[in-house]
Amino acid sequence: MGALKENVKIFVINAGSSSIKSQLLDASRLFDKDNGLLWHGQVNFHDGGQADFTSSPTGQADKHFTVAATDAESGYRKLFSEIIQSDGPLASIDEIKAVGHRVVHGGDKYHSPTVVDDLVLSDLAGYITLAPTHEEANIRGIQIARTVFTEAMQIAVFDTGFHHTMPESSVVFAGPYSWFEEDKIRRFGFHGVSHRYCSHQAAILLKRDLKDMRLITCHIGNGGSLCAIKDGASIMTTMGYTPLDGLVMGNRSGAIDPGLIVDLIDTGKYTAKSLSNVLNNESGLKGISGISNDMRQVLEASQNGSRRASLAVEIYVNSLASNIAALVPRLGRLDALVFTGGIGENCAPVREAVCAQLGFLGCFIDEKSNNDASEKVRSGVHQDISTEIAQVRTLVVKTNEELAIARDCLPFLK
Ligand code: ADP
Repeated sequence: MGALKENVKIFVINAGSSSIKSQLLDASRLFDKDNGLLWHGQVNFHDGGQADFTSSPTGQADKHFTVAATDAESGYRKLFSEIIQSDGPLASIDEIKAVGHRVVHGGDKYHSPTVVDDLVLSDLAGYITLAPTHEEANIRGIQIARTVFTEAMQIAVFDTGFHHTMPESSVVFAGPYSWFEEDKIRRFGFHGVSHRYCSHQAAILLKRDLKDMRLITCHIGNGGSLCAIKDGASIMTTMGYTPLDGLVMGNRSGAIDPGLIVDLIDTGKYTAKSLSNVLNNESGLKGISGISNDMRQVLEASQNGSRRASLAVEIYVNSLASNIAALVPRLGRLDALVFTGGIGENCAPVREAVCAQLGFLGCFIDEKSNNDASEKVRSGVHQDISTEIAQVRTLVVKTNEELAIARDCLPFLK
């Protein structure tokens, strides 16, 4: 690999299910203490066509706006115009030599970071049905970025990529084997960029070699998944062929009796499309509580006496705890449990309730450390919240998918 040219910037776009996060980084300083962060921005979408937009140039005050943004496209355009404006963080738009995109699905073809050309884009379009709420938005982000950042490579980093190491016993569903062999139906798994990044951060925090660790990373935001990581490699994850599987989520059902799905379509109550919409958008915390997909609002309603909000939280916590426990036999032992994502990082009551069910594994957390952790993690310092006697370390780690993606872009620039 050669040396980097001067003034090379990487721009990263990370479109999640309810937000778009974005960072501009100095490519020569990605491993410095500040990770070379020059600017970050975030668009959070709300029902009703409004979005909160925060623009945060490093070393300056944050700017907050409410903007009319109904979809990912308007969110991207807002973020892009913010960084290319004349008093923005760039001397010239051409300083951006790579735009890194978090792409949810790489199918069975793309595992490693990939420079996107027309062929790659058309392959990605073939995966839209596998991740309907995400893939289309990711493709749109690449298409718009190509027209705006004309001097930059567009590099896709796949959420499915990290799970490529899972053994066949984790990826084959218990239907006919021909589904796997002929139809390429398998567990893909998602959130791989975050699970990988957090596993490295956990090893650094515990001063241990990741190659000799057994971890469960819990990425719980609006979407959520667990990953069992053995010696640095993903061996099992809770999301499956699509990001709908596994844990109960903000507005997704997670795993649900397949017989129910067949019955609901068979009786004509739903078409496949309308049921997909219900399972992806009207279920989970939102479906049960009838209030919101946002854990903060559901917890508040629960505290104010809403029975269904309390039920939603209880079901959410039970789903997490029992799925964590179910992964332990696959690992043989558990060294650390890692919480990350919007809920994992910020929500002490959920961490407390989950860990209260996992004492039998040797997982015990300190009440004060847990309550203090979110604020410390928000300032970028990962936390070990375990008690001294705990056999399993429980960590709260601030994920940084944008940094992980920028680092994945680096080899393409040298
Ligand atoms: P996405 O899956 O869209 O990337 P995030 O990882 O940003 O989502 O997580 C968003 C979720 O984090 C919100 O739905 C909200 O429930 C939760 N969250 C954020 N802050 C808090 C908090 N202080 N307490 C409880 N939950 C929180």
